Amino acid sequence: MFNEERRFEQPFRWAMVGGGRGSQIGYAHRSAAQRDGLFTLVAGAFDLDPQRCRDFGTNLGVAADRCYAGYKEMFEAEAGRADGIQAVSIATPNSTHYEICKAALNAGLHVVCEKPITFTTEEAEELKALAADKGRVIGVMYGYSGFPMVQQAREMVQRGDLGEIRVINMQFAHGFHNEEYEKNDPGLKWRVSPQASGPTYVLGDIGTHVFFLGEMITGLEVERLSCMRQSFIPSRAPLEDNAHVMMQFKGGAVGTLWASAVNAGSMHQQKIRIVGAKASIEWWDEYPNQLRYEIQGEPARVLERGMNYLYQDAAGVSANRIGGGHAEGFFESWANLYHRFALAFDAADRDDQATLSELWFPGIDAGIEGVRLCEKCVESADQNAAWVEYK
Ligand code: NAD
Repeated sequence: MFNEERRFEQPFRWAMVGGGRGSQIGYAHRSAAQRDGLFTLVAGAFDLDPQRCRDFGTNLGVAADRCYAGYKEMFEAEAGRADGIQAVSIATPNSTHYEICKAALNAGLHVVCEKPITFTTEEAEELKALAADKGRVIGVMYGYSGFPMVQQAREMVQRGDLGEIRVINMQFAHGFHNEEYEKNDPGLKWRVSPQASGPTYVLGDIGTHVFFLGEMITGLEVERLSCMRQSFIPSRAPLEDNAHVMMQFKGGAVGTLWASAVNAGSMHQQKIRIVGAKASIEWWDEYPNQLRYEIQGEPARVLERGMNYLYQDAAGVSANRIGGGHAEGFFESWANLYHRFALAFDAADRDDQATLSELWFPGIDAGIEGVRLCEKCVESADQNAAWVEYK
């Protein structure tokens, strides 16, 4: 059983860019990062509005002189302090990630960045090279990948419990934006604007999440894909509020991905089903403590988190925080990831390459593949769903 004893002498001095008052995802970052005492929030450029940033930051307990009007000012001022920040999380709209991430790495900081990490794979590759040059780590917030039952799914596939993988069925299809709610919702407005969101809406916003689950659980690489995308709310064009992708993976497996914000009546419907030659598994983020395991010819089973029949997480950082039967959820998944990010940052600081190579976490390569998915889907959709080579 996990407990918070496992911590460093000193937590990382940590800041946020974005995630200010009223933001959708700021609290999730702060809650997860600080859960295990591995990060302490000491500074922030939380908001586009400097006054609101200061007001908000001081309410969180950050010193007024460390609530900054902008990220550039923050990185510069903090670099001049003996107790300056060591890591930063970036939770701003997509269009800003690349510049802020680059500035953070140049300031010598470890980074946790929101997805999609950039608009183009070239930009993401550039960040990867810069991070390597500076000896810094980039974590990417694919927040659903920290669930223990997702880790169990990965372990089952890697150990061959399903046999050879044949089909991967992925979907993240909610119904929250079935009407033009962006008129009164700034957080949705930027998501449907190419200048702020990038080349896609639902593909980047939610499709990348379940795509990453597919990648991490199976380890398979896409060879070719075909994508059809459309906007049922016409003003969202050229961005899509619905997309279907067909995929062929290297080695012969095939798959589909459905990303949608107009699946009326649905909450999330983020589901992944992996079909092997002997058995299938299925995970649904609305019931994250369970994993369906169906062996051909046998009654279907539901594996439950916290039980001894599950594989043990080798790194021990996605362990149960409470016994089985209790509901762990979204915040625990995120805390598991922030825990892994902290271990990676610490290993990088000590130049402990062995730990870094053994420790699993969603890093820059995961970020790059999410961006590539968006790029390739647009390339295909622009040619009437033509099959395009993935790399
Ligand atoms: P939001 O519009 O609700 O909030 C954005 C926040 O960033 C606001 O506080 C705004 O004032 C601030 N901001 C904007 N530009 C800034 C800048 N240049 N400097 C400092 N602050 C700035 O957006 P959101 O829904 O919280 O999304 C933010 C990011 O998080 C997006 O990239 C989104 O894709 C991602 N996201 C990820 C998940 C996940 O599960 N990993 C969930 C939701 C959002």
